Amino acid sequence: MGCGCGKKVKAVMDVVEGNVKLLEEKVRQMVGDETEYVPYVAQRLERCLGCGQLTWMTVGEYAGFLMANAVDVVKEFGELEKLPNMTRFEKHDGAGMYCRRCKCYLPAKARVKDMECPMGRWIGIKVLEENKVPTEKENKGENNGKG
Ligand code: SF4
Repeated sequence: MGCGCGKKVKAVMDVVEGNVKLLEEKVRQMVGDETEYVPYVAQRLERCLGCGQLTWMTVGEYAGFLMANAVDVVKEFGELEKLPNMTRFEKHDGAGMYCRRCKCYLPAKARVKDMECPMGRWIGIKVLEENKVPTEKENKGENNGKG
């Protein structure tokens, strides 16, 4: 029986990769380079924008969720969809896009090539090309039994 360490290490690496890409893109924009850095990001985030699992949180609000669930976050890191869904908030000042289901910061997650939506709305690059369209039920986030 494995300890699950491999999954946790991979999850940490994905978080680092997504945030490094995000930072690199911001630096490039600051020096006037508007080249599209990761072409599939906009398509992924567009799907998230139409999804019932999207929530808007500030860094402080997200940190509050992590702190309140610290033990489970450490235990389940790499499989955070096992935790209860985060609260749904509308867009507000200073808030960024997070997934209530996988608990990820979406602008970073969307920049990692092999990352997947926990509800199958985008699964790497190939599925995007096939243009999988979520059902209305999926769109409202009603098929997961977790609210
Ligand atoms: S469930 Fe998928 S589409 Fe919905 S917000 Fe999360 S990552 Fe985005």
